[in-house]
Amino acid sequence: MVDAPNGLGAKEGGHMTLAASEKLDCPRCGHEQEVTVWSTINAQLNPELRTMLFDGHVNVAQCEECGFSAPVGAPLLYHDMQRHFCVQFYPPQAIESDEFLGGFERSYPVTIRGMLEEVGYLARPHLVFAMDDLVHCVEFLERLLPDDG
Ligand SMILES: [Zn+2]
Repeated sequence: MVDAPNGLGAKEGGHMTLAASEKLDCPRCGHEQEVTVWSTINAQLNPELRTMLFDGHVNVAQCEECGFSAPVGAPLLYHDMQRHFCVQFYPPQAIESDEFLGGFERSYPVTIRGMLEEVGYLARPHLVFAMDDLVHCVEFLERLLPDDG
């Protein structure tokens, strides 16, 4: 479940909060249930999701049968429009995928292929490969950067 970064939708002018409902099997008991999987969180449009993320409740599936909870491992983009940053989580398995790597320019700082200067910082999300790092990075950038809202 690793999408190419081109699918981010930033070319359309912004990162709206996006979610999909997916049927997932519990890794412990096999029970299938619907789970809400977030692919984009917009900090200004949905501040309650920021709180959920910080509390470790975003993209974690808790089984309604046995109570086991496990991370969904889906890519997640966090976008703060007022501080002008975005942080993108990918599951670490993505690193080994040529299709995934093909979605970026072969240069540093890392830029999403085909999204150059006109979209500014949206073309250069800070990439992380652990959900904890996503939270820490957001926390850091919130403290570092002025809020122009
Ligand atoms: Zn279960």
